[in-house]
Amino acid sequence: MDQPIPFTGLRCRECGCSYPKSAVHICEFDFGPLEATYDYELAGRTLTHEALAARPRSMWRYRELLPIDGEPTVGRQTGFTPLVRTDRLAERLGLWAGDLFVKNDTVNYPTLSFKDRVVSVALSRARELGFDTVACASTGNLANSVAANAAAAGLKSYVLIPADLEQSKVLNSLIYGTNVIGIRGAYDQVNRLCSEIAGKYGWGFVNVNLRPYYAEGSKTMGFEICEQLGWLAPRHTVVPMASGALLTKITKAYKEFSTLGLIDNPGEFSIHGAQTAGCSPISAAWKKGTDIVKPVAKPETIVKSLAIGTPADGYYAIHAMRDTGGGADDATDAEVIDAIKLLAETEGIFAETAGGVTVACARKLVASGAIRPGERTVLCITGHGLKTQEAVQNHCGAPRILGPSLREFDEALAQAAAH
Ligand SMILES: *Cc1c(COP(=O)(O)O)cnc(C)c1O
Ligand SMILES: [Zn+2]
Repeated sequence: MDQPIPFTGLRCRECGCSYPKSAVHICEFDFGPLEATYDYELAGRTLTHEALAARPRSMWRYRELLPIDGEPTVGRQTGFTPLVRTDRLAERLGLWAGDLFVKNDTVNYPTLSFKDRVVSVALSRARELGFDTVACASTGNLANSVAANAAAAGLKSYVLIPADLEQSKVLNSLIYGTNVIGIRGAYDQVNRLCSEIAGKYGWGFVNVNLRPYYAEGSKTMGFEICEQLGWLAPRHTVVPMASGALLTKITKAYKEFSTLGLIDNPGEFSIHGAQTAGCSPISAAWKKGTDIVKPVAKPETIVKSLAIGTPADGYYAIHAMRDTGGGADDATDAEVIDAIKLLAETEGIFAETAGGVTVACARKLVASGAIRPGERTVLCITGHGLKTQEAVQNHCGAPRILGPSLREFDEALAQAAAH
């Protein structure tokens, strides 16, 4: 941009202390997380409905509210995924036609999950800060996105993952020629190791020392939802939670659009969080009525992408849900499998396990009356089912095998009709 940049710096979420725009993520006084700040008056001068109408359909159309100094250099095609009206699913969940939408990040570019949003920002910023090696601690999707985007940007990369991830999540990192390190342990142990490595080797860890930049990328999912609904925030948004960052940042997105006067119903939205029962530190705290999030030492779930036992943004997620009149719930592995199939069979969308969590929890929120018919609701579906095939492999039946003969086909069809 040739004008001044609305991105002003970093600020501690606890004490409000200011920090320069460098690779720092924690306040030195109280260890509070640092967050990007903006000059909203300046942003509002150029971020208008008219200006947006003429911009490319990617997440970077909201450039004024993203924390980089120059033009984006990584992930320029990422985002602006479809917002799909899902009447057939609505009926099955107990909502009315026109109430329910899926924000479909299963088709995000380039690696089929919402993580392409956060990585676009983190790696664009990493290049501005002069890093030649980038890295991450990941439950799978982040590793895929760092690997692909680093390859395309010509950056060296290391991705660290729990060693027991789904095959496809591992292969979808290896293919890009990145250094894939499997750690025998849970995500929290991988993450702790990454903090040590970041300090020692000076790499740009997208979700450690670059976390303030990384996290802001999640806002674009919220910005797009509002724009695609015709400049309205949905009454309800259901968001899967691992660290709780996506939920916190979608809330920030709706608030920023309210501040800038870009949506017609400022403040009228509730944010709901969805977790997997085998690792539900945030929804467990919510149900107990506390904001003290008790770590889960040993996550046990097929939903590996959400298996973070010590969620960095859990506290802030609880406050976002409370402040907006939302809520939280969790779903068992069996409910997740059912929900993946329901979304596929009603809407033709094949989601990964985290998507099953979102649909299953939405169903509970409708059943409990937290979401009512007539209230516009968006489900954030964050990753593609082709990456977690193990989860549903033995739950979809098998093809009927026949010889290449019309007689065999006729018989099979008659048999099937008789059942
Ligand atoms: C990472 C991830 C999330 C949520 O991540 P947060 O840490 O809560 O921001 C949701 N869905 C999928 C598929 C993910 O990979
Ligand atoms: Zn502080």
